[in-house]
Amino acid sequence: MRLHTRCLALNASFEPLTLVPVRRALRLVIDGKAEIVEVERGRYFRSERLTVPRPAVIRLVQFVHVPRKFRRQVTNTFLFARDHYRCQFCGRLSAELRHRECLTRDHLVPLSRGGTNEWTNVTTSCSTCNTRKGNRLPGECGMKLRTLPREPHFVHLAWAVRRLTPLQAKYIRMFYGDQTLSEISAL
Ligand SMILES: [Zn+2]
Repeated sequence: MRLHTRCLALNASFEPLTLVPVRRALRLVIDGKAEIVEVERGRYFRSERLTVPRPAVIRLVQFVHVPRKFRRQVTNTFLFARDHYRCQFCGRLSAELRHRECLTRDHLVPLSRGGTNEWTNVTTSCSTCNTRKGNRLPGECGMKLRTLPREPHFVHLAWAVRRLTPLQAKYIRMFYGDQTLSEISAL
């Protein structure tokens, strides 16, 4: 049973935008800002005052322009997903880290040396490797990157960290095609 299934929100153009909590989705519908496209059969959302079918997919009534800046933003959640939850220096997965170790964001060119927060300058590093690298460039301390950082496709990121229901996946396929959907599923 999926207890934490979220609702897929589509732009008015049917472009998948994001997953939102069911309560938020219903709020958008009640406020007239979105319409329900699909409901989860047999699943209900219950609050004190109402019981309604749980929306699985909603669509915004008015087209929302999503600024490119927002799409490009690096967050650790997306960064770790891009790098498959693996330290790009020692190669260990987050599940293989020891107690007190964690995944961190490493700036290849350190911020203190003019590095930026762009996708091509950040990589996933375990805290131990990050500490070891310190304020140096990878080449200066003999550390080698397993993969060159690149800017991932926004859509890949958005779904990489979450699981979609088959019903929701249908809308990704509709908008982006099978190729994108299988790339996402492989992550
Ligand atoms: Zn490491």
